[in-house]
Amino acid sequence: MTDRHQLTKEFIGQITARNPNEPEFLQAVSDVTQDVITIEKNNSDWAAAKVMERLTEPDRVISFRITWLDDAGMVRINRGWRVQTSNAIGPYKGGLRFHPSVTPSILKFLGFEQVFKNALTGPPLGGAKGGSDFDPAGRSDAEIMRFCQAFMSELVRYIGPDIDIPAGDINVGTREIGWLFGAYKKMSGAFHGALTGKAQSFGGSAMRSEATGYGLIYFVQAMLSQANRSLEGTRIAISGKGNVASHAAEKAICEGAHVVSLSDTTGTLLALDSMSLDAVAWVQARKAAGEDIAQPLQHLGLEFIEGALPWGTTDYDIALPCATQNEVDEAAAKDICDAGACLLAEGANMPLESQALAQIRKAGLIYAPGKASNAGGVAISGLEMSQNAHRRFSTAEEVDASLKSLMRGIHDRILAEEDGSTITDYARSANVAAYRRVADAVSAMGAM
Ligand code: GLU
Repeated sequence: MTDRHQLTKEFIGQITARNPNEPEFLQAVSDVTQDVITIEKNNSDWAAAKVMERLTEPDRVISFRITWLDDAGMVRINRGWRVQTSNAIGPYKGGLRFHPSVTPSILKFLGFEQVFKNALTGPPLGGAKGGSDFDPAGRSDAEIMRFCQAFMSELVRYIGPDIDIPAGDINVGTREIGWLFGAYKKMSGAFHGALTGKAQSFGGSAMRSEATGYGLIYFVQAMLSQANRSLEGTRIAISGKGNVASHAAEKAICEGAHVVSLSDTTGTLLALDSMSLDAVAWVQARKAAGEDIAQPLQHLGLEFIEGALPWGTTDYDIALPCATQNEVDEAAAKDICDAGACLLAEGANMPLESQALAQIRKAGLIYAPGKASNAGGVAISGLEMSQNAHRRFSTAEEVDASLKSLMRGIHDRILAEEDGSTITDYARSANVAAYRRVADAVSAMGAM
């Protein structure tokens, strides 16, 4: 066994003993540890500061009860959390997720990933994540609003523009951020940028909703140009139908690619030829109305395949998993390889199971981890924070230009970690580049 494998095994053993029932968190930690453990060992400052041991124990995990009234006047109770993982390089920053699958393990993995993503992205932002096991499906707008207000009545005391700045994530979009911000403003008495993803009429940035999906496509373009290829004419399979998936589809179509799929838990929408912008708009409208996509849609050139994932339905060059964590298992990874894909970039956070990732790497696909390829959202959140602090507003054109250059900056930072001309391992170099930045900050600030 190599030094790296031995050190990784020992470290993961120690973290597993501390977090025995947190598989997603351990998966995310293992992924980073194998890439940085010898680097830490060989740097006396970082080793003395125990950087990885610190980062794998969040600064704090805040847990609270959310009590709200449903439309029938009945009391409902949910669980809420904010995991503040690290503020080594800046205030805590990361989204809020409302979904029945939310657990401390999920939020700890997401907070951990966010530390590395934010360090790689550029602006000085730490990492956090929060949310609730609340399921908005089937709930009225009034119920979701009351839930958001009840959630904020707890969260309000832990956040602020220089402390912790939440944003959206799964099932938390512009509308929910509006309700959360309205409650924050009332309860704190302050009007400042303590949340990002706000509507533009009260301090939100142009392009924030589009940013993660568009940024994903800009990152894929950077990867393709590195490999002397272009996006135009490529076939792209996308999973998911939410904010990231639909905006990635929109941008890919505008850049001349053929989008072949979108999906949700009920099945896959397959384009008979290639998806049109009208078809994407239809999916966005269904999502906004809280409806699934199970419909025969011949007039939009779409076929609905019940119960299917996109990966085995047709052939394509690029796979963009944009739904949720661990959505791609070994069988799906095999389908992706068999479909002829040469590139996979993550729109969701950790969408590949460990074995699936190993398979994708073994098959030689160019692979980008979400902490690099889906960083466009938090990148524009950073811009929203500085617009709020300076009481300024940037136009959509300005923000789009910034997004392009932020995604290019992430690609360059990864490139700089390799020999400066070719990238052989995006995942490793992203982990190492982010680690170095955080490790420098942690060790510079002493043992606190
Ligand atoms: N939830 C997004 C992410 O996973 C955005 C976080 C933010 O804007 O703070 O990166």
